[in-house]
Amino acid sequence: MEPILAGALAQFHEAADQVSLRDELRDYLTAFKTVFQTQFPVEMDDGSIRMFDGVRVLHNGARGPTKGGIRYSAHVGLDEVKALAMLMTWKCAVVDLPFGGAKGGVTVEPASLSSNELQNLTRRFTSEIIPIIGPDKDIPAPDMGTNPQVMAWMMDTYSMTHGYTIPGVVTGKPVALGGSEGRFEATGRGILDVMQEHLRAHGGVAGRRVAVQGFGNVGGVAAKLIREAGAKVTHVSDKDTALFHRDGIDTSAAYAFVQRGGTLAAWRDQFARDVEVVAGADVLTADVDILVPAALETVLTEANAGAVRALLIVEGANGPTTPEADAIFRERGIVVIPDILANAGGVTVSYFEWVQARQFQRWSEDRVNQELQRIMARAYQVVSARCPIGTRTCTLRQAANWVAIERVVEAITLRGIYP
Ligand code: GLU
Repeated sequence: MEPILAGALAQFHEAADQVSLRDELRDYLTAFKTVFQTQFPVEMDDGSIRMFDGVRVLHNGARGPTKGGIRYSAHVGLDEVKALAMLMTWKCAVVDLPFGGAKGGVTVEPASLSSNELQNLTRRFTSEIIPIIGPDKDIPAPDMGTNPQVMAWMMDTYSMTHGYTIPGVVTGKPVALGGSEGRFEATGRGILDVMQEHLRAHGGVAGRRVAVQGFGNVGGVAAKLIREAGAKVTHVSDKDTALFHRDGIDTSAAYAFVQRGGTLAAWRDQFARDVEVVAGADVLTADVDILVPAALETVLTEANAGAVRALLIVEGANGPTTPEADAIFRERGIVVIPDILANAGGVTVSYFEWVQARQFQRWSEDRVNQELQRIMARAYQVVSARCPIGTRTCTLRQAANWVAIERVVEAITLRGIYP
């Protein structure tokens, strides 16, 4: 079993023990409603045909249609997608969205494909999963390696086979196609919202030193918004380069550059020669107040957890901390705001997008950001009330898992088992 699935199951069982979950519910919640695997052909630009592996896993739909991203990555495998589908169930429950959890993926390095090949792959994969997706059934969204353009192709493919436009089948679409204002920035903005709520009684994030690992649509946006909220982002990194400046990096300029297709290395070379290039691993152990791992899973492990110097870790990525690292952080008194709470801003604004699609409405960006802030703050309050800060007997991750599991169990109990 891959470490990410073992970690997700271990966390679930720990939380299940603590809420004294009955064995049959444990079996129910560690099972997967639907596991759909497909191998499908794509015509490449040179006329050749290549086969690809795709998967869509629906974990649990007790609280509503299932929801979760589709990732394109060379490393995507079934265990990873199962773990992430399960995390989506807890994530949607902890912020109280009327959704269950799902995840999908195609094993492909998207950068190795032309735009035309990417479109062919997306359309063919979408047509393979048509039997299990739908605006009332299972609603995909972007994740690592996918973006609004990919969602536009998915929406179009699904709609074409039904004969009319069905915008509610995916979220994270371009705004011109019924995507929501604020969706692109939502995960990064939610990270800031939750951080502000956590630090509310202590002056908020202004003046704090922050390190952010990952500079994509989660890490890059978070780094930009955290700086704009008055913090000093001293460390940032993308997959090739890590940067450091003791007085803080102009992450707004760097993110604008990266969004236009540049890299952190090129931005530094052209505009910020006083910023130092450091080793990637240094970002995780930087001498900062707050660490935001917002790139890959299982980056905080037994091997480096002892060297982490931040006092607060806000998980932007899904599953960045192994259970061993989690135990070390707890022992050391380092607070972790867990992924299912910290990065739930993306799926929350996906929910707003789905609501808008189904009502043919358009919300303003201000309205989206305000509603997002309200939901993130409330979720943080509910979770932290279950494990008040300073309590050494529990963690926010455990509390978030308790809240999520109890909500899913309540839905299962109220619905009963069919027939
Ligand atoms: N892929 C994102 C996540 O992991 C968003 C999912 C969604 O919007 O449905 O939360």
